[in-house]
Amino acid sequence: MAPRPRPAAEALETVVVHELAHLRVFGHGPAFWSLVASRRPDHAVWRRWLRDHALELHLALDESARPSRAH
Ligand SMILES: [Zn+2]
Repeated sequence: MAPRPRPAAEALETVVVHELAHLRVFGHGPAFWSLVASRRPDHAVWRRWLRDHALELHLALDESARPSRAH
């Protein structure tokens, strides 16, 4: 099986910024997205990337959970 592409670092950072923003703002209202955009102005690009690669990201999670996987 061919190796799966690694998630773009920018996509991973977007996830971290999103979660950190929730420490200050509950929900996904304008104040939340303003805070996210202040740290990651291109967050919409990477949110789309995450949606477009959702299936392979889910598969990678399943594979990493297998105990026989070599590290
Ligand atoms: Zn959220």
